[in-house]
Amino acid sequence: MKTKDQAINYTLRRSRRARHLRLAVYCTGMVVVTAPWGFDLRRLEDFVRQKTSWIIEKLDFFKKHPQNSATQLPRKEYLAFKVQALALAKYKVDYWNQFYGFGYNRINIKNQSTRWGSCSKKLNLNFNYKIVKLDERLVDYLVVHELCHLKEFNHSEKFWALVAKTIPEYKICRKELKNHERI
Ligand SMILES: [Zn+2]
Repeated sequence: MKTKDQAINYTLRRSRRARHLRLAVYCTGMVVVTAPWGFDLRRLEDFVRQKTSWIIEKLDFFKKHPQNSATQLPRKEYLAFKVQALALAKYKVDYWNQFYGFGYNRINIKNQSTRWGSCSKKLNLNFNYKIVKLDERLVDYLVVHELCHLKEFNHSEKFWALVAKTIPEYKICRKELKNHERI
């Protein structure tokens, strides 16, 4: 762990367009200082030294929350899987809704870092694009879970009884999905 007195490693970028010093800490642990062209190096060192505790705080945060930083979710991956995820979600919703026959509005694929799925009050079913990476039975559970929220907007006993009609082993699935929680 870096101490307050320790020098910070940073990358210096000179920019002809920059009018002030700019400091950025990225989730990769990279610290970048952008300085106007010809800016005095000694003043720059002073500036970084003054910001040391702020930089360390940021670096610690990224170290402690590696999965939570949205910048770490590669957008390319999301775009690549989105179509596939939507096809999977539509197929599974159609399949399980043959049993339930609930009305819904739209199926959306989202790029969220904390949720596998949700059901909105507008009766939209939302799924994380990462469902394409899940075991099929967990996708089945997830789809049934969100479908049942169309009828029961809570996790009451009535809700779980509805889920259990098609996924009797829902408790195991729920647990497994929780272990996946860091998505
Ligand atoms: Zn739920």
